[in-house]
Amino acid sequence: MPSSKSEHDTSYEVVIGIEVHTQLATRSKMFCRCAVDTDAEPNTRVCPICLGLPGVLPQTNDAAITLGIKAALALGCEVNLESRWARKHYFSPDLPKGYQITQYDYPLAEHGELELPGLGKKIRIRRVHLEEDAGKLTHGSKETLVDFNRCGVPLAEIVSEPDIRSVEEADAYLKELRLILKALGVSDAEMERGHFRCEPNISVRPVGQKELGVRSEIKNLNSFKAVREGIERAMADQIAWLEQGREIVQTTYLWDEKARELRPMRVKETSADYRYFPEPDLPPLIVKETEIEEIKKGFTRASVTVSQGTTVTGSHRFILPAEKRKEWLDKGLKKQYVEILVTEPEWERYFMQLLNKEVSIKEASTWLLNEARGVMAERKETLSQFKVPVKEMTTLIGLLRDGKLTRPGAKELLAAMAGQGKGARELMEEMDLGAVSDEGLLQEAAKKVLAQNPDVCQKYRKGKTGVIGFLVGQCMSQMRGKADPNAVRRTLEKLL
Ligand SMILES: [Zn+2]
Repeated sequence: MPSSKSEHDTSYEVVIGIEVHTQLATRSKMFCRCAVDTDAEPNTRVCPICLGLPGVLPQTNDAAITLGIKAALALGCEVNLESRWARKHYFSPDLPKGYQITQYDYPLAEHGELELPGLGKKIRIRRVHLEEDAGKLTHGSKETLVDFNRCGVPLAEIVSEPDIRSVEEADAYLKELRLILKALGVSDAEMERGHFRCEPNISVRPVGQKELGVRSEIKNLNSFKAVREGIERAMADQIAWLEQGREIVQTTYLWDEKARELRPMRVKETSADYRYFPEPDLPPLIVKETEIEEIKKGFTRASVTVSQGTTVTGSHRFILPAEKRKEWLDKGLKKQYVEILVTEPEWERYFMQLLNKEVSIKEASTWLLNEARGVMAERKETLSQFKVPVKEMTTLIGLLRDGKLTRPGAKELLAAMAGQGKGARELMEEMDLGAVSDEGLLQEAAKKVLAQNPDVCQKYRKGKTGVIGFLVGQCMSQMRGKADPNAVRRTLEKLL
């Protein structure tokens, strides 16, 4: 939805830009050797550097820089061979130094873009830069506690241009960005742990107006739902104010998830408020072209060859979600199945294990992504709770392929396996689900059906061969679905 209408029938357009802070998956902090371990006992992963004590010297963590470059390259950015560190000053109890080391006028990388899957639209990326995190405050009823373990934890900030025009696009942008960061191992991007924090800025304007409206910024949103609701709220508020002729003041808000309201945090702040200045303790950040080339090599991957159900996975190190999508679509997998594999790693793992057991893509998608997923949805189970291991799923598919099971029989068996956690063969025998291939039994059933339906036989003999479908159906129910329909059809044709 590119615009929303007010009661006065003016159409408004929303303009959104998003900043994301993602925690880089390094073992140590950005400028000291302290471990990144935000679950540790409070204030035990600290040192004079990350506490900002006088007389200490920060040193950059190469691993964090490499991860930043990876993210930048995946987003199509130009990496600056020289970028600089800056101090951003502000007072907060969780910032013992009184400033944060970040990058300001010379960021690590610029000018990228991200294509929204399914929508085809590209969102420009303004910049990717590196910085350190602040500590964490926990507000109790009587006191506020501070934990400095997070001080100095490396972050990449990824800033989009204001190219987003709807809540749906914002959602798609963030989901794809998160997938990319996870796929590259740049960040675990766990939102509930604050490792992927979203800050959308939102403005509305009457459709047709060129100038941008005044922005509302929402801080630190940690779920897609909060992003959606926060943006919707900001849009509705701004449209209401415009309708009332009120002036909109640029404001930074916090999203109150319970009250579903935006709480003003501070009014308009400009970069001047932060008294940025060059970080005197750190030299410029120099990236060598050879380093960039080396990282780029990781993006090229040996192709995955799938032939007759045999999968040979190459030695790829990371695959971008867009490439993965294309590859599966090229192999003929349906779009909705591709999305499962691209967005849910545990399903992809199971799927690939099936392929490694010589199950074809078609069989694996039908029985895992369609049938088993349906069974799990019904049982309200996740894949990790699913009682059918890859080996047993392979057996079930094999029994079906060899004609030992019929399709309806296989479905029934799968549901039973999920419930009881027993092996496919064992349960098939126990439930007497095996397909009847005994020629004698088939003949018997077919003869019986033909005798009961002389008129249909008549039609068939007069050339209306389509009616055989009805007869096959009759035979199948006669045999309680346990016959192979093709065998039944052949037997009927012979007799007719
Ligand atoms: Zn430290």
